[in-house]
Amino acid sequence: MKNNHYDVLIIGGGIIGHSISYYLNKSGVHAAVVEKQASGGKATRAAAGMLGVHTENEGVGEYHQFCEKSRDMYAGLDQELRKLTSIDIGLSHFGMLEIAVQDEEKEALLLKKSAFPNLEWLDTPRDRISSLSNKALGALFMKDDGHVEPRQVCEAFKRAALLCGGNLLEDRTVLGFENNQGSFMVKLDSRSLTAEHVVVASGAESGRWFETTGLQNPIVPTKGECFSIKLRENYFNEVLFFRDFYVVPKPDGRCIIGATSKLDDQTTDTSVGGLSDLMNRLFSFFPEWKDAALQDFWSGVRPGTKDGVPVIGEHPSISKLYFATGHYRNGILLAPATGQLIENLIAKKQVEPSIQELFSPSRLAEEGEVTYEYST
Ligand SMILES: Cc1cc2nc3c(=O)[nH]c(=O)nc-3n(C[C@H](O)[C@H](O)[C@H](O)COP(=O)(O)OP(=O)(O)OC[C@H]3O[C@@H](n4cnc5c(N)ncnc54)[C@H](O)[C@@H]3O)c2cc1C
Repeated sequence: MKNNHYDVLIIGGGIIGHSISYYLNKSGVHAAVVEKQASGGKATRAAAGMLGVHTENEGVGEYHQFCEKSRDMYAGLDQELRKLTSIDIGLSHFGMLEIAVQDEEKEALLLKKSAFPNLEWLDTPRDRISSLSNKALGALFMKDDGHVEPRQVCEAFKRAALLCGGNLLEDRTVLGFENNQGSFMVKLDSRSLTAEHVVVASGAESGRWFETTGLQNPIVPTKGECFSIKLRENYFNEVLFFRDFYVVPKPDGRCIIGATSKLDDQTTDTSVGGLSDLMNRLFSFFPEWKDAALQDFWSGVRPGTKDGVPVIGEHPSISKLYFATGHYRNGILLAPATGQLIENLIAKKQVEPSIQELFSPSRLAEEGEVTYEYST
């Protein structure tokens, strides 16, 4: 950095901001992250860490391929980040089971199986997970999907970016920026910085940056609550994904149960009602777990978008201003591919036009004809 000048300034130190910083600094582009509190303390901290390529997609397509690519990047990152930072990102390879309890869920899963022939249909999932209630009518086994430890991934990206020459300013809030003869003047609460490029990666708080730069605000903050328990024994290693809750068994013996979904809610408390709903859903399948020790509970705000697609790309009319936000419930899954995509865009490397189009902020230009349909 010379005189507080950076190649790229990233607003937000969650998993997305730090992934971008890692890929940029690794390729020799000097990037700094500005985080208003502590890194990874918002949505990233709340996530269960599922890499749910097939729970998040009903069929093949561009978005599915992007999810798959990002999931697959984790295998290499596991080694790469461990070598650089000694951090274990908690990558689990035991797969996920999406479970049908009602006839229409079974039909939907069988349809999904026909879209993804590599998935395995289990008529009797209790053969695999013996503690599962016999209410289960069948399950899709997704052997390549798994989970990571989101806080560890974020911390590893953060430290690796710093080791590659990056900068981090924590407890500093970006108040605004303006484009000044081809570069940006970025105003923090404490001082000003300049940068050639700015990337907005501020999660559920990204909405204002769309509005202040003349775009429609696509962000729908969606609160989620979770809790974790400690079981007496390790019943299974696979993630169990039901229509209205999931169970993610972590290698240290914790089981994360999630999650509620409250649209347009940015409050930070964890409600008794939310937890009791989740517990009732859990106990209807695992009544014997009522004796498990409650370990923790928490909430976080997912950065949803009105059309259900993240916004990753350059502003349609402000050159060198990028967005990397709106990952809703897939930000952990999509962090590696998002970081790499922003690096490719800034470095003017070749990016598939269909991917650019899918995530493009151009769809938010006022004169655009986007019809918003929020999907949960
Ligand atoms: C309960 C729950 C469960 C989830 N489970 C999963 C899961 O299993 N798998 C999955 O893939 N995803 C999951 N998610 C979604 C995932 O957590 C998010 O998509 C992801 O964390 C988004 O990362 P981010 O970096 O964009 O946002 P954040 O982690 O929220 O980071 C944004 C950062 O920007 C900072 N910031 C904001 N404004 C400013 C400013 N003006 N100046 C400086 N800094 C600023 C904030 O302080 C924050 O730290 C879950 C989310 C929740 C809530």
